[in-house]
Amino acid sequence: MIEFAHVTKQYPDGTTAVDDLDLRIDAGSFTVFVGPSGCGKTTSMRMINRMITPTSGTILVDGRDISTLDAVQLRLGMGYVIQNAGLLPHRTVVDNVATVPVLRGDSRREARRAALDVLERVGLDLSLATRYPAQLSGGQQQRVGVARALAADPPILLMDEPFSAVDPVVREDLQAEMQRLQAELNKTIVFVTHDIDEAVKLGDRIAVFGRGGRLQQYDAPQRVLAA
Ligand code: ADP
Ligand code: ADP
Repeated sequence: MIEFAHVTKQYPDGTTAVDDLDLRIDAGSFTVFVGPSGCGKTTSMRMINRMITPTSGTILVDGRDISTLDAVQLRLGMGYVIQNAGLLPHRTVVDNVATVPVLRGDSRREARRAALDVLERVGLDLSLATRYPAQLSGGQQQRVGVARALAADPPILLMDEPFSAVDPVVREDLQAEMQRLQAELNKTIVFVTHDIDEAVKLGDRIAVFGRGGRLQQYDAPQRVLAA
């Protein structure tokens, strides 16, 4: 479980990005943060893995205050997927995915085998595994990004607009893949998007953010649509 308790983030220039956020994200849920640009979705997500520190308030993961945990250990338990995949350009696809298992202490050989398994799972054609990221399409790169986040089998997956840079047809494909993975993996997924259709399609809980970084609604998708 991930719990925000009165969390506020104010940037040094005075911008209040997140205002008094109170939110409990159940283990195993697919929670979507949705809302217009600039309403604090990314800031909220990045506070979960401590890329950003709250100005005030507390974030608990499985009942533990994350400010007391080792940041590296915390992040090893959380896959993170961003818009343009963020792959290492000078490493092959398989080595990009093997990076985290190697950091976690697996041998290179074990890590590569695990990487191929997870690449297959996200639907990548394995003949692409020895290519470099620049030799893949945007959609293929995003699949690799998802595979890399899943490679260490973290209980939590953070996804920040992972599919917004790919064309609509590929996006539908990736969304369908996510639904399948969610059913199969039973992870806690937090997913950021500005697209309400995507939010409703993927999420089982929707957190609607609004101006000033305030949470406006937190509910099941059909109730959010009815509001
Ligand atoms: P969203 O993900 O909903 O687009 P963000 O969390 O990125 O929103 O940003 C929330 C607010 O904080 C916006 O007004 C944004 O301009 C501001 N902001 C984000 N990052 C910084 C920063 N590093 N310094 C100052 N303001 C920032
Ligand atoms: P180095 O560290 O020697 O510069 P790199 O890790 O950049 O090597 O790349 C390893 C090999 O893969 C090199 O032979 C390089 O030319 C080739 N390579 C890297 N990126 C690409 C790419 N986008 N397309 C084709 N070949 C690539």
